[in-house]
Amino acid sequence: MTKTKFRYRCTDCGREYDAAPAVYLCPSCSASPESGKPPRGVLKTVYDYESLREAGTGFDQLKKTGFIELLPLISTASMPPLRVGNTPLYPVSELEGRRFPFGLYLKDDSQNPTWSFKDRASALVSAYAAENRLGTIITASTGNAGSSLAGICASQHQRAVIVVPETAPLAKLTQIVMYGATLVPVKGTYDEAFDLSVKATQLFGWYNRNTAYNPLTIEGKKTVSFELFEQLNYHVPDSIFIPVGDGVILSGVYKGFEDLLRIGLTDKMPIIIAVQSEKSDNLVRNISRQVFRIMPSSTVADSISVDIPRNFYMAGQFLEDYNGETLTVSDDAILSASKVLAANTGLFAEPAAAAP
Ligand SMILES: [Zn+2]
Repeated sequence: MTKTKFRYRCTDCGREYDAAPAVYLCPSCSASPESGKPPRGVLKTVYDYESLREAGTGFDQLKKTGFIELLPLISTASMPPLRVGNTPLYPVSELEGRRFPFGLYLKDDSQNPTWSFKDRASALVSAYAAENRLGTIITASTGNAGSSLAGICASQHQRAVIVVPETAPLAKLTQIVMYGATLVPVKGTYDEAFDLSVKATQLFGWYNRNTAYNPLTIEGKKTVSFELFEQLNYHVPDSIFIPVGDGVILSGVYKGFEDLLRIGLTDKMPIIIAVQSEKSDNLVRNISRQVFRIMPSSTVADSISVDIPRNFYMAGQFLEDYNGETLTVSDDAILSASKVLAANTGLFAEPAAAAP
């Protein structure tokens, strides 16, 4: 039997699982989910780091093959024909006439095909589905993940089913419909949309892209770290500010740098600062608490408005292991940052992206 390139390791119990099509949570840890609590048993994708390290694999060598050694794919040819990732990193030396005593860079992931960071996850999930002949992909979404999956699937001639809470922004719903996806509005919250999508997955055998449910979303999102490393001349940045809703982007960015650390391409990890809105702070508020308690979220930053952060435990582990920090900001500060950013740099950010 040939050794598979990657395996899944449970964040909670540490059990390992072989790569098989459509693997989601650790069956043991997710067996009895607690209502109103983040799910247990989110899986981390792990590779044969030892061999890559021993072979002296260099960063340029990895890049030449599209990082295929660190992706759960057979070939990068299964990726969408659209350009995903490889987005610009802009240095900003001053804002409002004040020069910074440090180097600041802005990563502009609105340059992705559907204008959001989520395309990194959708692209990988779509490629994996293509390789494993999983014809229909479903996701629950508050907007961006759904429009992203819809757009990426359109480019790959795959069927997408998007389950959204009825409060999702109209602009994002329009985008989903324009891409030809099947839109399923739910009279309820994102969490109810999430549960419905999981039921449909079990009933119809559709492939599920839900964030912090499908472990590959983290693998797609980690590619931003490889880019940052290269764009900063093979250096890991000191600090990275990340907008946080359910914690998957945070985990993805950590995972990318952790992969580089494991194969010996760096010995440094960045200090990551998890940024949430004061009006949606269920991840950062609960991180050092014994008992997880939800406060209903109601922030203007709809993309990071989350009651139950689905990747709570993995994100918490990363923050603990690598000395991460947390920060909350007011909605007023988010809106004012968005304005300052647009007027000073020409970069127009939705509130979620303006939060950090
Ligand atoms: Zn487990």
